[in-house]
Amino acid sequence: MTGPGLHVLLVEDHAPLREQIAALLQRHGHRVEEASDGRQALQMALDAPPDVLLLDIGLPGLDGVQLCRRLRARSARHVPVLMLTARDALTDKLSGFDAGTDDYLVKPFANEELLARVLALGRRGGAGQDYLLSIGSLSIDRRSREAWRRGQRLALPPTAFGILQLLAEAWPRALTRSELIRRLWDDDPPESDPLRTHLYQLRQHLDKPFDMPMLRTVHGVGFRLESDAADSAGAAG
Ligand code: CA
Repeated sequence: MTGPGLHVLLVEDHAPLREQIAALLQRHGHRVEEASDGRQALQMALDAPPDVLLLDIGLPGLDGVQLCRRLRARSARHVPVLMLTARDALTDKLSGFDAGTDDYLVKPFANEELLARVLALGRRGGAGQDYLLSIGSLSIDRRSREAWRRGQRLALPPTAFGILQLLAEAWPRALTRSELIRRLWDDDPPESDPLRTHLYQLRQHLDKPFDMPMLRTVHGVGFRLESDAADSAGAAG
């Protein structure tokens, strides 16, 4: 049959169940990518955000709850998440919602139920999202993960883009160093001073080619963006 053709990322380490769900979704016209490891799946979801992420809780590498939390912190767009959980795992459900899951399904589930939930989430995800942010002459497309300043595209590495996006979403508020680290890496930052290199890269692209820096250090607080709109208005008159 011809279906709505959603792009579904299916993350389940139990191979027979994964194959069964993938076959079901494909029969109904959806495009399915499969993963069995949490870390690999997180990377896949960040690289090519699916219309729906179908996520088992118990996974090797990174469990479903951790994965969901990191995805929420780092993804440029809201990826709808349907979490799969065992019948007796009520606390899993609760921590799943805390991690930002959109819906959950208790195993074992009926095929019709799974299809209906996937469709509902896929539709919801596509509706009325605002991917563009702009502050002064800076614009950010959270879907394509691109940024421009004064019409010039900024060739930002992914983590530098992530910092810029978090600061833009918080604007005009400042974010603390620890808040940035937590939202980028959860409780597992890759090194002792993980922001340093990425902030340097961000400054190189965002500020160095222009006369007014937008990335400001707020001493004793953290970092924030400053709009260059006054600067532009001043130039205009
Ligand atoms: Ca599992």
